[in-house]
Amino acid sequence: MTEIEKVKKWLVLFGEKITENEEYLNELDAAIGDGDHGTNMKRGAQALIDKLESRDYADLADLFKEVGMTLVSKVGGASGHLYGSAFIEMSTKAKDSNDLAAILSAGLDGINKRGKAEIGEKTLLDMWTHAVDALQDGTLSKEVIDEALMDTKEMKATKGRASFLGDCSIGCIDPGIQSSAYLFTALLETGVLDE
Ligand code: ADP
Ligand code: MG
Repeated sequence: MTEIEKVKKWLVLFGEKITENEEYLNELDAAIGDGDHGTNMKRGAQALIDKLESRDYADLADLFKEVGMTLVSKVGGASGHLYGSAFIEMSTKAKDSNDLAAILSAGLDGINKRGKAEIGEKTLLDMWTHAVDALQDGTLSKEVIDEALMDTKEMKATKGRASFLGDCSIGCIDPGIQSSAYLFTALLETGVLDE
């Protein structure tokens, strides 16, 4: 399987996980925000699956660009712009590198630039930071992802809608952290990282 086919498979699986867990993501967002993260992400996921399954891409830059544009236009909410910025930065990086750790690290920079959250503010930036660090060390695993989910659960949200809840945000999983966990789990499960 070519690199492009593997990456397509990864992102289709991500879209499937989002679709399957729409209700769960909405429940997480209802506890901490406004209850729409699953619906927002599912809209993007379905458009993404349709595009990935019907188009051929010249290279990874081309593919990631379309993913970014689709997520920005279809997801909406804070997360549409954040995921969109991530994939658009990943597209730029993919023009001069095919190292996924470096590409996803550029995605993390895109989230940082767009959302201006700090690490520890209980946003999807926290999951991306843990996962990209582990990817760069070659240690990304399901355990690393689960640990990041559990660590961030006890954090207090200070960015995004969840910050309005103050201490009520402690003990709840942030919906964007959960959807990002699906992205990195799908990456492991499709074997994109295997030699
Ligand atoms: P909205 O908050 O507009 O309803 P969503 O519900 O789709 O959008 O997405 C909420 C998620 O977005 C949160 O769970 C959080 O992880 C993430 N988020 C919100 N603001 C920021 C930010 N400034 N930086 C990083 N992530 C953020
Ligand atoms: Mg929301």
